[in-house]
Amino acid sequence: MKLLHDKIMQEGKVLSSSVLKVDSFLNHQIDPMLMKEIGHEFANRFSDQVITKVLTIESSGIAPSVMLGLEIGAPVVFARKRKSLTLSDNLFSSKVHSFTKNETNDISVSRSFLNEDDNVLIIDDFLANGEAVKGLLDIAAQAGAHVVGVGIVIEKGFQNGGKLLREQGVRVESLAIVDSLEDGKVTFAPEADA
Ligand code: 5GP
Repeated sequence: MKLLHDKIMQEGKVLSSSVLKVDSFLNHQIDPMLMKEIGHEFANRFSDQVITKVLTIESSGIAPSVMLGLEIGAPVVFARKRKSLTLSDNLFSSKVHSFTKNETNDISVSRSFLNEDDNVLIIDDFLANGEAVKGLLDIAAQAGAHVVGVGIVIEKGFQNGGKLLREQGVRVESLAIVDSLEDGKVTFAPEADA
């Protein structure tokens, strides 16, 4: 997705050979016009599917998910990382190890918002080792929901999450695939460069 590639090249900061900082448009400040285009692109890529729910994880997955939800007319459910006082014990939950924070979080979704009639599209901002997506797949499985695929804003192709998920037969659509962050430079995978 050219607009996203350009934005990453202009504003992305390479923090190390494995971490890309994009907090000027995705992870802290949000660029609504770019998010709108991202929602549109996810809707196009999964236009062959009936989606009844978009499932993501707080907080950075929410903005692109809402734009997609608006586009396809489906509600967005986000897994919470912290226990909320208003979240009862009527929950689906899973454990997710965070690559960037090096901590394990319990994530949870109320049983009221996912069920076996749902066709779910999972969305997240980044795909690294696939832990967050695996947690969301686990929650969807607990609900008996059908997962139509996974939409990722930025996949880091040099980490193994995308490979593991695709080997399991999960359809993964990434709007940008970063091949390398070596020498402080972002290089995109050739097929994502078009
Ligand atoms: P995974 O669970 O696939 O190992 O990592 C994905 C999660 O970790 C995403 O939800 C994202 O919040 C965070 N993450 C992983 N790599 C990066 C990165 O390079 N930059 C930023 N900003 N977040 C990342």
